[in-house]
Amino acid sequence: MVQEAGLIAGFTGAGISTESGIPDFRSPGSPWMRHKPIPFDLFLQSAEARREAWRRKFAMDDLYRGARPSQGHIGLAALAASGRMPAVITQNIDGLHQESGLSADQVIELHGNGTYAKCLSCNRRHELDWVRQCFDSDGDPPECIACGGVLKSATISFGQAMPDEAMRRAQKLARSCDLFLVAGSSLIVYPAAAFPAFAKENGARLIIVNREPTPLDSEADLVIHAEIGPIFSKFIT
Ligand code: NAD
Repeated sequence: MVQEAGLIAGFTGAGISTESGIPDFRSPGSPWMRHKPIPFDLFLQSAEARREAWRRKFAMDDLYRGARPSQGHIGLAALAASGRMPAVITQNIDGLHQESGLSADQVIELHGNGTYAKCLSCNRRHELDWVRQCFDSDGDPPECIACGGVLKSATISFGQAMPDEAMRRAQKLARSCDLFLVAGSSLIVYPAAAFPAFAKENGARLIIVNREPTPLDSEADLVIHAEIGPIFSKFIT
């Protein structure tokens, strides 16, 4: 199916990064449950919630510092290099698709990016090393250097609006592809999980590669319940 496809949409979830050493959200013992992301409304309401959000963020960063792209990331980068996969739609926030060689334009981040911070008022980017230095020195996250606004990791938290441009691009790609290739997603987090069904409705073939069953398995043209790495390494030439 990959060989026959003219236009491929990649779609990834946390499962593509487990082989890089970053656990997924729902598998047993996940540290994401211990350091649960703070919901957006709470983050806005309370300075203590903001401090706690940054404490949890830095605790997770310390656990996975130095993670490198997996065979899955590298296999997808090879598919992109073949010219038939314009972009990967990802739920991940770890930046590993970019590190595997995809350009910023080739990664559609539905849930943002946890490798830098953004001002909630003026959107200005701030680097995490600087945020952390300030946080470690007085226990408070710094304000935006341009407008004094609240800084937050550039991820989309529970309760935060989805990013318009990423949603638009993902819809366009899902509508135009003839193969939608899912890797490592439980396909239960919406609205992201709507894209595979959307592509299928528009006539694309659907492949799901995931360790365990997903709610969309019955809609797929091919389901592979296996580890991603050995399968996607076949795309690396
Ligand atoms: P999920 O945790 O709900 O599901 C991941 C799926 O991948 C699971 O069904 C699991 O069985 C499967 N899986 C794990 N390792 C695998 C492997 N090596 N081979 C094949 N399958 C494997 O993840 P999700 O669907 O992406 O949704 C969770 C949310 O949490 C997302 O919104 C995402 O933003 C966030 N998250 C991101 C990261 C990251 O950026 N690396 C990590 C954890 C959570």
